[in-house]
Amino acid sequence: MTIVSSSQNQGETVKNYKSSYFGLPALDVSVAFPQATPASIFPPCASDYYQFDDLLNPEEQALRRKVREVMENDIAPIMTKYWEKAEFPFHVIPKLGSLGIGGSTIKGYGCPGLSITGSAIAAAEVARVDASCSTFILVHSCLGMLTIGLCGSEEQKQRYLPSLAQLHTVACWGLTEPGIGSDASSLKTTATKVSRGWVLDGQKRWIGNSTFADVLVIFARNTNTNQINGFIVKKDAPGLRVTKIENKIGLRIVQNGDILLKNVFVPDEDRLPGVNSFQDTSKVLAVSRVMVAWQPIGISMGVYDACHRYLKERKQFGVPLAAFQLNQEKLVRMLGNVQAMLLIGWRLCKLYEKGKMTPGHASLGKAWITLRARETVSLGRELLGGNGILSDFLVGKAFCDLEPIYTYEGTYDINSLVTGREITGIASFKPAELSKRSRL
Ligand SMILES: Cc1cc2nc3c(=O)[nH]c(=O)nc-3n(C[C@H](O)[C@H](O)[C@H](O)COP(=O)(O)OP(=O)(O)OC[C@H]3O[C@@H](n4cnc5c(N)ncnc54)[C@H](O)[C@@H]3O)c2cc1C
Repeated sequence: MTIVSSSQNQGETVKNYKSSYFGLPALDVSVAFPQATPASIFPPCASDYYQFDDLLNPEEQALRRKVREVMENDIAPIMTKYWEKAEFPFHVIPKLGSLGIGGSTIKGYGCPGLSITGSAIAAAEVARVDASCSTFILVHSCLGMLTIGLCGSEEQKQRYLPSLAQLHTVACWGLTEPGIGSDASSLKTTATKVSRGWVLDGQKRWIGNSTFADVLVIFARNTNTNQINGFIVKKDAPGLRVTKIENKIGLRIVQNGDILLKNVFVPDEDRLPGVNSFQDTSKVLAVSRVMVAWQPIGISMGVYDACHRYLKERKQFGVPLAAFQLNQEKLVRMLGNVQAMLLIGWRLCKLYEKGKMTPGHASLGKAWITLRARETVSLGRELLGGNGILSDFLVGKAFCDLEPIYTYEGTYDINSLVTGREITGIASFKPAELSKRSRL
């Protein structure tokens, strides 16, 4: 017997099928091993069991339909290929721009001024088909653009927002550093005042979109005040270097970068006047945390939809997988999770719209939804058997994509502690003993 590698083996099998049976393009799993439809032909939505549309206004419903259509028709067919290559599909940026969600809740400056509910449901619909695309848009829109929208001068908003809203230019948002993750307010990058501007020195890590962003929103510590300030750095600034982070197991389409800032000059007109302390980032994070909470909702919907179709298509023991009681229980548990997640996400939006949402509310939402989503995608992965580890059927890819989302925008632990502090009045981010010693 000749032993061949799995890729050789698959190529052989495809060639055999191709020459003897099908005559269809090689390396299409549905052709090589005809057993179920791959996610490039996206499954119909079966996850909206409690008819969530009834809770949306007509504009939000229309936006939801539009985003779903574009994602299913234009993005689903290509996403696996780009995910596998860990490359960004630049040619889809105009398509994503045409969705009219760039700038989301910002009013004016060419931005759509969406309700937070509309923005959230759009984020979920993007994530339902591809989580990387939703991260790309959220980093651009709800972090980069929103910081300019909420903390920028009138002149900065007029200069930067219109082209960012159309996705003619792309933004990123740099807070995290190699040595500073959860403890973000301790960041070390410095901003030193010089004649007509500022000089930035330091490093940033994990920054989404940064390898190609035109506009980099960077947070740095003012060496005079010791407070955190915000700056707009342009991609061609001398002293700026960005290196792509390779070998990620999730959100592989998102281009995360390590940023080196060495003596980078930022003119006075590009310092964000509304960021004078770390607290000033909280109004941006309030919105972005709600948006990030909607990503796992969308991911879970897509996974449920894929499983629902797969279980009816694939047979074992002479019957569809959907006929087994154990599989039905898992499917129902996933469906229950999705309904509960949608309702928590929706309530968060309503609290925000009424000006009643607290940081604890947003953190509980993000933490709890990602926890339930982790259970949901694990069940989905299990239901697809071996095919559950392939990116082609969506579930394996979504399973991996959820992991970074569980961690970014505050890990599950940190978000739990934010809510814990709010409900008990006791902050427990630093172990008391160590914290006492570090003050000595
Ligand atoms: C794919 C991806 C994209 C990202 N995009 C961006 C971006 O665009 N811009 C940006 O600025 N950042 C970005 N980040 C960074 C992200 O916000 C951080 O990874 C996150 O805040 C966690 O920081 P860390 O990875 O350094 O983990 P650490 O802070 O080192 O934490 C490690 C573990 O310790 C736990 N832990 C830490 N402190 C405590 C505590 N006090 N109590 C209990 N447990 C604790 C954490 O919960 C975690 O489990 C991204 C990260 C990833 C993975």
